[in-house]
Amino acid sequence: MKRIVVAGAGGFIGGHLVKKLVKESHQVRAVDIKPLNEWYQVSEGAENLVLDLKLKDNCYQAANGYNEVFNLAADMGGMGFIEKNKAACMLSVLINTHLLMASRDCGIDRFFYASSACVYNATKQTDPANPGLRESDAYPALAEDGYGWEKLFSERMCRHFSEDFGITTRVARFHNVYGPYGTYNGGREKVPAAMCRKVIEAGITGNKEIVIWGDGLQTRSFMYIDDCIKGISDIMYSNIKEPLNLGSSEMVSINGLVDIVEEIAGYKLERKYDLDAPKGVRGRNSENTLIRKYLGWEPSIPLRTGMKKTFEWINQQLAEENKSKKTISRFNK
Ligand code: NAD
Repeated sequence: MKRIVVAGAGGFIGGHLVKKLVKESHQVRAVDIKPLNEWYQVSEGAENLVLDLKLKDNCYQAANGYNEVFNLAADMGGMGFIEKNKAACMLSVLINTHLLMASRDCGIDRFFYASSACVYNATKQTDPANPGLRESDAYPALAEDGYGWEKLFSERMCRHFSEDFGITTRVARFHNVYGPYGTYNGGREKVPAAMCRKVIEAGITGNKEIVIWGDGLQTRSFMYIDDCIKGISDIMYSNIKEPLNLGSSEMVSINGLVDIVEEIAGYKLERKYDLDAPKGVRGRNSENTLIRKYLGWEPSIPLRTGMKKTFEWINQQLAEENKSKKTISRFNK
């Protein structure tokens, strides 16, 4: 049994990670800035703390007496959020910096940092047929403005804390994670959840139109949450010092993603393309040679399988939000 701190435990990935660690009988301290009633999942078996981890003292309080830290805390969201909140995204640098200082001074043995595919050089992501971003494609640096630069800087902070202070740090570059118990509305949601919500809402309202940001030809890959949680754990306890891609290599266009959601819903919608909306890079995929080489594994849950579970969960949430409205199952009859 280890004593493990999970920062960002009230969020999507943190909530799933805490659940797994508690199930494995570890002593878990779950920390998030949000009030407890806003956490996506609350594990009874964990010590749940509401703290702003941008503040140094709070990071010391979080790390004190524990062995390991997983830092999943960040002020972030999908493209709609990060393009309009660059300063807020960059302020997450305080979280990782103060957590590293606290970890060094409180004797933490291992530290995990959740980085992102947004660290990659933009000029390597102009082709929708992107062959996949290799770890070396982060340099020379031209990261996503705001959010991506913070991630790249914090990756290096982990590296130098490791080199200069001897704390073991591990970094994974997540590529679009999706699944149940994530953000699906409010402006911070990412494209898989947004598409599920839009298709479901169209089914509820009878307005059979869907707005897609961009021309729908831009490409991405999406990793189901179960693969992400396994990857976090495998990378944390590996001996791999450099940042590693943690993403699916099943690339799909946004139009292709909408095809999948429509197929799950059982109906098609008329597509409207908003060419002025935030759309991010043109093509992005995860290149998984290194993770396969080092860990003998890569995320492999098919997009269709993960999207079905995500769709069903979001459908349930929307049905509960307004029980008087029709749900997809009724729409399908
Ligand atoms: P999330 O927004 O659901 O969770 C992040 C959590 O951090 C939130 O609950 C938020 O309240 C908390 N937080 C923010 N500021 C805080 C502070 N000052 N103190 C304490 N807690 C604070 O996001 P997620 O999808 O679970 O992402 C987790 C991590 O993975 C983040 O670092 C994110 O940048 C990274 N990441 C996620 C994805 C993805 O597709 N979900 C992709 C790349 C990287």
